[in-house]
Amino acid sequence: MDAVGSLEETPNKRMQFATSRHVNSTELERNEEREKYSGVPVRLKQEAQVARDRLLSNRTLPVSRPRKKPVRLPPDVSLEDFEAAIKEIQGAIGDENVEVNDKPLVDGWYMQHPNTHDAFHITDQEELVSSAVVYPGSTEEVQATVRWANKFGIPIYPISIGRNLGYGGAAPRIPGGVVVDLGKRMHEIINIDAENASCLVEPGVTYFRLYEEIQNRKLPLWIDTPDLGGGSVLGNAIDRGVGYTPYGDHFANRCGMEVVLPNGELLRTGMGALPGPDGADNPTWQSFQHAFGPSIDGIFSQSNFGIVTKMGMQLMPAIEHQSYCFTFPRDDDFEQIVDLIRPLAQKGILGNIPQLRHVIQELNVTGRRKSDFHDGSGPMTREEVRAAAAKLPLGDCSWVFYGTQYGPSASIAAQLEVIKSEFFKIPGSKFFLPSDLPSDHYLHDRSLVCSGVPVLRELDWLNWLANSGHLFFSPIAPTRGKDARTIHEIIVKAHERHGFDLFPTLCVAGREIHYITNIIYDRADANMKASAVKLMREMIKECAEKGFGEYRTHLLFADQVAGTYNWNNSAFMRFNESIKDLLDPNGILAPGRNGIWPKRFRGKGWELKADDIDLSSIGPRPEK
Ligand code: ADP
Repeated sequence: MDAVGSLEETPNKRMQFATSRHVNSTELERNEEREKYSGVPVRLKQEAQVARDRLLSNRTLPVSRPRKKPVRLPPDVSLEDFEAAIKEIQGAIGDENVEVNDKPLVDGWYMQHPNTHDAFHITDQEELVSSAVVYPGSTEEVQATVRWANKFGIPIYPISIGRNLGYGGAAPRIPGGVVVDLGKRMHEIINIDAENASCLVEPGVTYFRLYEEIQNRKLPLWIDTPDLGGGSVLGNAIDRGVGYTPYGDHFANRCGMEVVLPNGELLRTGMGALPGPDGADNPTWQSFQHAFGPSIDGIFSQSNFGIVTKMGMQLMPAIEHQSYCFTFPRDDDFEQIVDLIRPLAQKGILGNIPQLRHVIQELNVTGRRKSDFHDGSGPMTREEVRAAAAKLPLGDCSWVFYGTQYGPSASIAAQLEVIKSEFFKIPGSKFFLPSDLPSDHYLHDRSLVCSGVPVLRELDWLNWLANSGHLFFSPIAPTRGKDARTIHEIIVKAHERHGFDLFPTLCVAGREIHYITNIIYDRADANMKASAVKLMREMIKECAEKGFGEYRTHLLFADQVAGTYNWNNSAFMRFNESIKDLLDPNGILAPGRNGIWPKRFRGKGWELKADDIDLSSIGPRPEK
């Protein structure tokens, strides 16, 4: 276990930057600033406070510790050049908009997340760190930042909000890269078009902000939010995140982008490529995605080909809805449940992408600690889960299906009859409405999320262990019982081998399942972190052998995942590399993101492959 230290500032004698201040005041100012644009809405203040206090009471690690190492410089950049570069970018966008990352690192919590490193560090906290953070305030300043990076050969990593926790947060893949935090100063809701049911936003607009604005304007529109509402609408769509209304596929519901290319040039996609009258934006920019010619939006999602400065999103007209859940008694009902969902989803009878969860999730969404149910280390036994679940509102069961139907009430009633008649084919299955369950049951929060109301409830499962961090493992499987069982068994066995509780949530569509597991570890326990890395590596490999690949991953596993998409001598990656080298010859934009390395870094030991299980230090490795 890491030692518990005290909150002290690192004296950094080597470098004196204009921006160096005491950690406390910097943090305070930063938090106050963040509060204004990415903070929690008033309606959730108290809930946030409770969530925060509960999480912090389960933390044994100090708030911060003195830094062990000096500022991590970008690769191939001397201290002298770095100092000159910092001065230059300060001159271009303002001293106060450039921060050197030389203070103690603070993991914070969801609402006060760092932009200096990965808050849920799976490696040493000081490994995935930036050298500095810059805050451009306009598209022109993003262009200036990109040109600056080219001049000094400094890798830059754009984030919108940086709450991509579980996938690497705000961390740069190359330690010492400069984080470009777009959200702090670029957080305008440029337009909400109530008739077209769409909006145009900058990177720093969170789900909370957009939702509150629509409520303030009393517009009959829904947003689509992921499980937690503090992320960026634009950033999440670029990373192909999902939500739970019928508009849950965020990238599919984008409409028009503005992108700064790695050479600093500015591009608009879709109808935005056609200038509007008198210098205005094109009037159909948020109405038609594809426009004319190749549809290139996709190459800017999960890639490192551009920095997105504006994005249009389609909004859903508000409609009546009804959330509900079913429970199923036996672990072995799994295959049949999946096979029953498939036709219901394909025919459009299920209203949204439902979630199928194992009953162990009922325990950890209560916000209680694992130690309430289980003594010592090692995963909970099935008997312990059964005994604990029996005392909860849904009772002793095995799988829980959370769904929502939409439309006029008569239509919802008819849909529910069809769905019930299908799921009741499984002996012992039960049906619940929110009114059947206590007011603090998770179903009430699902009802909010599934009608586009962003919440914080999903933070509660982070209390499971002390100092909890988490990683997502997110493969895609076909919606077919036997395939779902194959992938489930791989994941169950791997968790057993490494001693982790398994928390599966399956987002089941008509043809594919996002099988999302949450690996929860104690950030103070180096052995547990090392086991989590092995667990990830093995699951990626074993799933790929059966043809199952991840749709998204933590940045340290991106090379391995990208390497599994290797059909025809890795034609897909070679295509991506060709685009990368053309657009970004100096290799400055987010090298390594999604496993795409520019020529400058490619094959020079930066890639982390299946056999790289020691992630204690991140940097170029000698050829094996
Ligand atoms: P959120 O806070 O919404 O969860 P992030 O801002 O952390 O999301 O973004 C997730 C990832 O998407 C980032 O790590 C980055 O790789 C990419 N990304 C985010 N915003 C942009 C952007 N505006 N342009 C290019 N890439 C971005």
